[in-house]
Amino acid sequence: MPRTLLGVAGYPVGHSRSPRMQNAALAELALDWLYVPLPLPPERFAETVRALPSSGFRGINVTVPHKLAAQGIADQHTEAALAIGAANTLTFVDGEIRADNTDAGGFLDALDMPVRAQKALVLGAGGSARAVVFALREGGADVSIWNRTAARAVDLAREFDVRHAERPGGADLLVNCTSVGLEPSTTTRAALDALDLTEEQPPATVADLVYRDGPTPLCEWAQSAGTRFVDGLEVLVRQGARSLEVWTGRSAPVDTMRMAARDG
Ligand code: NAP
Repeated sequence: MPRTLLGVAGYPVGHSRSPRMQNAALAELALDWLYVPLPLPPERFAETVRALPSSGFRGINVTVPHKLAAQGIADQHTEAALAIGAANTLTFVDGEIRADNTDAGGFLDALDMPVRAQKALVLGAGGSARAVVFALREGGADVSIWNRTAARAVDLAREFDVRHAERPGGADLLVNCTSVGLEPSTTTRAALDALDLTEEQPPATVADLVYRDGPTPLCEWAQSAGTRFVDGLEVLVRQGARSLEVWTGRSAPVDTMRMAARDG
């Protein structure tokens, strides 16, 4: 029997921690499967993905810039993928492509706290903000969205029937879904300025989808005030764990995945 394959499609994708995280999980589950990086330029995405099932692929993760295209080529969609309008997980079953979005559930798993009635402020209005706003709204949080380009926050708030914040502030939970802090040279001060947080104290919980080697600016901000902090690598691990469960039907070994993702 040829080996069952999984992968992550992105462009670029060489930096992705998913292959080592997922291969560590597959080894722990004693599955002779392999998870590979699939660097695909946008113009090759659809035709390549359609050919993957006949090459032994069971499913793939999808990352920047293909999440919308992944949604578009699927025959079936989960409720989360439909509401978010983007897919990060494709599964090939019986000649069909099924689209899921595990970013939303993975974010709530990483947060590991009840969100019902929490005042949640989401910073950003791009792809990751869509998944986080959906997850928090479904969890019963009172959600507001702030974005540098206010019109995008207004549109997103309208689409998800939540509020737009003219200024960040007054939250129990703050989630950074912007790319501020990704650049290693960004100081905490510069990040707080960019996010209009210079006058703010961190709320009870801060989550940052951005991760990099070493603490992010929002991590330093949160930790300097003794606030609970949830980092972007944990979000990556938890969305990956959910994807693995979709493909294998097995419980994901989250500790193993976390160790592999953090290792380097
Ligand atoms: P995206 O769709 O490109 O959206 C980027 C967002 O960042 C927009 O809201 C944009 O605001 C804002 N932004 C960019 N530069 C800014 C600046 N200098 N000041 C203030 N706001 C700025 O990106 P995305 O896919 O949502 O991803 C956002 C971040 O989350 C990325 O760093 C990504 O690596 C990370 N992420 C992590 C995970 C995980 O598993 N941990 C998953 C997904 C994404 P404008 O609308 O004003 O341009």
